[in-house]
Amino acid sequence: MAQKTILITAGPTREAIDPVRYLSNRSSGKMGYALASEAKRMGFKVVLISGPTHLAKPGGVRFISVISAREMYQAVMKEFRQADIIIKVAAVADYRPKKILRHKLKKTSAILNLALVRNPDILAALGKKKLKKQLLVGFAAETQNIFKQAREKLTRKNCDWIAVNHVDKANQGFESDNNELTLLAHGNQQFYLGYASKRILARRLLRTLLAVAV
Ligand code: C5P
Repeated sequence: MAQKTILITAGPTREAIDPVRYLSNRSSGKMGYALASEAKRMGFKVVLISGPTHLAKPGGVRFISVISAREMYQAVMKEFRQADIIIKVAAVADYRPKKILRHKLKKTSAILNLALVRNPDILAALGKKKLKKQLLVGFAAETQNIFKQAREKLTRKNCDWIAVNHVDKANQGFESDNNELTLLAHGNQQFYLGYASKRILARRLLRTLLAVAV
């Protein structure tokens, strides 16, 4: 395991509207950072590609800081070949403003329409490019039909595993120190990892991967 490398993406992305505003989401980065520090403790070489968060960098990991989805895409494409396991925890913005305004947007009309364009789907791109030796793990955070949608993602994005966040319940998921996760794999494999701190879940997730898939 000492030689194995794990690449983790974490946090939200920020999509600029103008020099002072952006679109983003509620991801704190806590789940991804917990995975990075537990993986380090377990003896992996860790590369952490992170969007903007308020968290301290985990010690002993190679840390790459990015802001937007397109920056994250470029960083991941540069780094992924060296990884044995890739875990995409980042809450990547699906859309970005079509134009970044050079000057601060002024309030004029009562209704403002902001044109958005699709961002690249990093996980789906990795699903197409991944090497034979690589294990690709995605995360899913849905508010309805969570298992059905996660199974669809597993197939559509060509992942080996999807970790389902039970974000439909209170006090877990985004921003929280706790979470509830279920790991899904092909062939209807399913591992409920329980409700626990993100650190404990990170350890359970990595141990499950090692026991079942590596
Ligand atoms: O947004 P979605 O629910 O499809 O996200 C599921 C998985 O896809 C997550 O692992 C997320 O990191 C990844 N993703 C990505 N690039 C995007 C959107 C999502 O890598 N543009």
